[in-house]
Amino acid sequence: MSQADFETSDIDTYDYIVVGAGSAGSVVANRLSANPRHKVLLLEAGPASNPWTSIPIGFAKLIENPKANWLYSAEPEANTNGRSIPVPRGKLLGGSSSINGLVFVRGQSQDFDTWAQMGNKGWSYESVLPHFKSIESYDGGEDEFRGRNGPLRVTDPDETGPLYEALFEAAGQVNIPHNPDYNGATQEGISMSQATISNGRRMSTAQCFLEPIRGRRNLNIVTDALTEALVLDGKRCVGVRYSVRGATLEARVNREVIVSAGTINSPQLLELSGIGQPERLQGLGVDVQHALAGVGENLRDHYAPRTRWTITAPGVTYNDKARGAKLVMQAMKYFFFHKGMMGIPAAPIRAFVRSREGLEAPDVLLGWVPMLYEPGYKLSKTPGVTCYAHAMRPDSTGHIHISSADPKAPPTINFNFLSSSTDADITVRAVRIVRDLMTAPAMAALGTKELLPGESLTTDDEILAWIKEVAETTYHPVGTCKMGPDPLAVVDDQLKVHGIEGLRVADASIMPTLTSGNTNAPSIMIGEKAASMVLASASQA
Ligand SMILES: Cc1cc2nc3c(=O)[nH]c(=O)nc-3n(C[C@H](O)[C@H](O)[C@H](O)COP(=O)(O)OP(=O)(O)OC[C@H]3O[C@@H](n4cnc5c(N)ncnc54)[C@H](O)[C@@H]3O)c2cc1C
Repeated sequence: MSQADFETSDIDTYDYIVVGAGSAGSVVANRLSANPRHKVLLLEAGPASNPWTSIPIGFAKLIENPKANWLYSAEPEANTNGRSIPVPRGKLLGGSSSINGLVFVRGQSQDFDTWAQMGNKGWSYESVLPHFKSIESYDGGEDEFRGRNGPLRVTDPDETGPLYEALFEAAGQVNIPHNPDYNGATQEGISMSQATISNGRRMSTAQCFLEPIRGRRNLNIVTDALTEALVLDGKRCVGVRYSVRGATLEARVNREVIVSAGTINSPQLLELSGIGQPERLQGLGVDVQHALAGVGENLRDHYAPRTRWTITAPGVTYNDKARGAKLVMQAMKYFFFHKGMMGIPAAPIRAFVRSREGLEAPDVLLGWVPMLYEPGYKLSKTPGVTCYAHAMRPDSTGHIHISSADPKAPPTINFNFLSSSTDADITVRAVRIVRDLMTAPAMAALGTKELLPGESLTTDDEILAWIKEVAETTYHPVGTCKMGPDPLAVVDDQLKVHGIEGLRVADASIMPTLTSGNTNAPSIMIGEKAASMVLASASQA
């Protein structure tokens, strides 16, 4: 999507430059360019689109697709048993919202209250709630918590059937209540997953925040444009240098550059521009422009084992419902009615639960995929169900740093998963909760049997050893340009980079801690709030 009448070389000075058209950046660009007097440049390293983005099942086709995905991987580490964990990231308009699992979860009110208590004024739940409401149009209707008039369409899946009924009933049998809206008054309980899907189509931020404004002549969207460095004049950011179709160009800015390149690439871009840990940068031959110790630190993600269960009751899982010729039926169901396997989010049912009594709020997320699948998300021959389980607010932190001054070289990613013993303990408890639920009478009635971790693994040590063998992320890295007032913070509560004028970061990297659940909704909220802060600054200037 490139403005046909807006050549990149014509205008090289803008009021605002946004780097990265992902979940947050697309929203920032939309809101800033709503005023026709603002000239806005939006730079995206990836292409405008991919044929698989609009179909929800395209998730499985994009997760290893180099045409829409940065395809990063983490360094081998002790608690992955030396495995290198894949780190997929969207590389196209819409960013990761164009390749993700389409599940829509805000998190708990306590998540944002914690951010505020860490010294971030204006980020309490009460303060961010209006932004959550203004981004969405939820088909469940408007109330104190939900919005109905925003650009992002959010729906309740209408999947039904014996498997879903049994899961809800089994949850009740182990005292997990049904919650009709986990994005409402309280998160706790088992629910159908709300999804960024409407009429069977993916609602990425490209679809909802960029497509409708294609005609704005004051917004220049340039795709396949890799921002290689920020241009600094002393302690002020005055522009960016980027490469597009073999040419290296520079764009200048009157007001601000907003970096929304995501948790992996935002710290990478700061470091490439000389903002970060001096010794590290000097060691790679990067001129130090500004010492900032926290750049790339505080990396957090959800580390989740996938438990696997076989089911003998016929016709209840997609392994049965999409087998052989029935796959054609699924395709027809999708194309004529926008329903069935091709139109569901990656995990259409989820539960937010407490790992132990006495906790104030849930600390564990369980997500069910109504099928068994092999590596590469290929349907297994054996009918069954997959359930992942993880600690929602892990304490373990890792880091991301450049390994070279070359902007095209992938950064080095170290998660340090389970370096906190609390995370290990909660993850083991999470697996035990899955077992309790999957062996409750309602699930047993479907002929459910544990495949992995396997009934023979019973002690905490055995379960933990298995987790280290198999767990992967649920693709929610955050925190590498964290917001706060402390020495390791990269941005302040206005998302301004500490010590640099004219530069903000607005994406998942600013989260000081992980939110309780998936991270697309909070990233979009961050984009919305960032834009309102930028506009407020402009009106005060
Ligand atoms: C496979 C997968 C499944 C997921 N499933 C879910 C889910 O079901 N629900 C959920 O809530 N969350 C999910 N997530 C996470 C969620 O999508 C992300 O947390 C969210 O999209 C992050 O938004 P962001 O704006 O920080 O970054 P992104 O959306 O990743 O955007 C960053 C953008 O910047 C661009 N960029 C990077 N570097 C440069 C550069 N140097 N120059 C120009 N452009 C650049 C990128 O190409 C990208 O478009 C998933 C993520 C993945 C990858």
